Amino acid sequence: MRLLLLGPPGAGKGTQAARLVEKFGIPQLSTGDMLRAAVKAGTPIGLQAKAVMEAGQLVSDEIVVGIIAGRIEEPDCAKGFILDGFPRTVAQAEALDAMLRDKKMGLDSVVELKVDDTKLLARIENRARETLAAGGTVRADDNADAFKIRLDAYHQQTAPVSNYYAGRGQLKTIDGMAPVEHVSKALDAILAH
Ligand code: AMP
Repeated sequence: MRLLLLGPPGAGKGTQAARLVEKFGIPQLSTGDMLRAAVKAGTPIGLQAKAVMEAGQLVSDEIVVGIIAGRIEEPDCAKGFILDGFPRTVAQAEALDAMLRDKKMGLDSVVELKVDDTKLLARIENRARETLAAGGTVRADDNADAFKIRLDAYHQQTAPVSNYYAGRGQLKTIDGMAPVEHVSKALDAILAH
């Protein structure tokens, strides 16, 4: 199964993706996680991406498309994958289409988690608090200033990606403000079809 999860930062994409990894035994491809790993490891991509990510802006299409193109060739993606945080621009969506077309593949589901902007900052702040309480390190962009820029980037550059898939009749939408178990059930129902 090849699944794409869309939605603003803090919508719950990562939580749902992690659950589906267990359920379907396919990997979660989070460009955010991969970029954070590159920053931590100090790779050339990490060095290029660090400041952009900390500011809450989007890394270039070229970098993230290159990462995903390489990643979906890995053997663990043969049975499918869950894309989380990619594509984030229409150019990335078009690049993904071209990649899948080359492999004679398509997406099985494109699901958007909808959450009001007013709820998102509270969720991000909560994630930061929980990470700290668990002894972890809070993400450099999980703060109010960077979050505002991330949300602006979402509305300007990523919301059109939903329209891109909606225009092709592929987009399904879930109320991401519902309790997490309800979101899980709604997502499972979509994936069962
Ligand atoms: P995330 O973990 O998905 O919230 O991503 C964290 C940050 O990584 C974003 O704010 C961007 O700076 C960068 N990033 C992750 N995925 C992408 C993408 N598909 N395109 C551009 N930048 C991305």
